[in-house]
Amino acid sequence: MKSSSSIAALQEYLRDESRRTGTSEQIFFPETKQDIIRVFKERPGIPVTVQGARTGVTAGCVPEEGITVNLERMNRILDFQPESGTITVQPGLRLRELRRYTASHGLFFPPDPTETTASLGGMVSCNSSGARSFRYGSIRDYVMALELILPDGDALRLERGKCQAEGLGFCLTTRGGRIISGTLPDLKMPDVKKHTAGYYVRPGMDLIDLFIGAEGTLGVITSIQLRLLTQKKHIWGAVIFLPSEDSALELVKILRGEKGSAPSLSPEALEFFGCDTLKLLRKEQIAGASLADTQLIREDAGCAVYIEYASDDKNHLTQVFGQVCNRIEALGSDPYHTWAGINPRHMEKLHLFRHAAPECINRKIAEIKKQYPSITKLGTDMSVPDSCLDEVFSLYRRGLKREGLSSAVFGHIGNNHLHVNVIPKNMDEFRRTKDLFSRWAKEIVRMGGSVSAEHGIGKLKTDLLKKLYSEEQVAAMREVKKRFDPDEILNRGNIFK
Ligand SMILES: Cc1cc2nc3c(=O)[nH]c(=O)nc-3n(C[C@H](O)[C@H](O)[C@H](O)COP(=O)(O)OP(=O)(O)OC[C@H]3O[C@@H](n4cnc5c(N)ncnc54)[C@H](O)[C@@H]3O)c2cc1C
Repeated sequence: MKSSSSIAALQEYLRDESRRTGTSEQIFFPETKQDIIRVFKERPGIPVTVQGARTGVTAGCVPEEGITVNLERMNRILDFQPESGTITVQPGLRLRELRRYTASHGLFFPPDPTETTASLGGMVSCNSSGARSFRYGSIRDYVMALELILPDGDALRLERGKCQAEGLGFCLTTRGGRIISGTLPDLKMPDVKKHTAGYYVRPGMDLIDLFIGAEGTLGVITSIQLRLLTQKKHIWGAVIFLPSEDSALELVKILRGEKGSAPSLSPEALEFFGCDTLKLLRKEQIAGASLADTQLIREDAGCAVYIEYASDDKNHLTQVFGQVCNRIEALGSDPYHTWAGINPRHMEKLHLFRHAAPECINRKIAEIKKQYPSITKLGTDMSVPDSCLDEVFSLYRRGLKREGLSSAVFGHIGNNHLHVNVIPKNMDEFRRTKDLFSRWAKEIVRMGGSVSAEHGIGKLKTDLLKKLYSEEQVAAMREVKKRFDPDEILNRGNIFK
């Protein structure tokens, strides 16, 4: 196992895409499970922070002390069963490698957190989802089995369907024969499609779900078995430019089948780019950024919606294309001004364009950080029930206007899950934005929503978790952690302050 104790070598491993920087004594790059066990056994009681590909945006993998364990070298495919559509991988495997491999066998892995350099271990730990969650849910729906190393060096294997809670009581046996039992917190999780704030808890739940979205606080994931789907034969996507954000909201409701007559197929993805985001991206284009070689965004483009459809029936897809064109024309959009992708090369371009929005924000934050080092990424990750889409949208726009903040709103509108990003000009704006997010979180909870839909709580959003759950409920979650990690050495600072 390679380890690095030189500060220079450590630097890049001290941060993630939240742009928060931490500190660590030493970093290890295990290649096997035994390497991880050795780290725990040789330095008992020392805090350990686990890292995947460090694309997270809540500082979950940013160490604050102790040792860092980076899993990028545990990146092999361990088993592949194309007939049953399952694959078992090590946690450091990157999403893009998994996709490439499965696509060559006609199989498809739906979770799509935009950032294809993310590792599968990080994705499971955050219960990642992304663009296709509208149709396919989050990674939780595809995890069939997990293996974890616990902080005492013992191991745990969980297979879906094999171990259920009894009411709120849980009991698991480790590989070493130790019994870990306790009581899950009594809490009502928000009734939204996307939620990853704190532990997943339901009476009688499948206990594998406790470890998905636990942000590495319960154990180090060393092996993941995933379920794959058969790849559809035909796919098309489009960036549709609309005159106003109101018309985009109308289109979303039509495509979700809530209003008017919906096309005869449900989209795979339903994404939004606000007027502020398009302005920002257009500025980048004018300054020379190619943004996946797309045309220059027109100055009069109000906002945009990205949609994606897939089917084995090409004729049906063509029909749906026509139906969508009719709907958008009625909303004032010019179908000839739509960027359509009808082959894999075009689709790749559209995906890269979609990815350009969060990338651009991250770069802006890195720039402003040079002047104000304590600034970190300021982006919301809250989701609400379908019925609250208009309400949450106007909450965001009113708040941004009142505070006079420079923003970029985009994201997974199909799930009422928008990322409101703010680019602060100074520390005053940074603090005011944090207060604004905190006030929004209160409103989101009132609407029945979640304070984190896919990024997790990490170290940056622990205050928001307290808007969702009472002190007692958060303390009860922490008691669950202590059953697996009595000295609380693992991923200290994540979820619980
Ligand atoms: C441009 C951009 C766009 C993004 N868009 C989306 C999006 O649309 N949807 C979405 O869901 N996310 C998105 N993300 C966030 C990010 O990609 C995901 O959260 C991803 O799952 C993180 O994976 P990672 O390997 O980088 O994990 P890391 O950042 O390394 O770690 C994330 C968390 O997982 C823990 N962890 C990592 N590996 C393990 C392991 N093996 N065992 C235990 N714990 C572990 C870490 O300790 C940390 O708490 C985006 C990020 C960027 C930069």
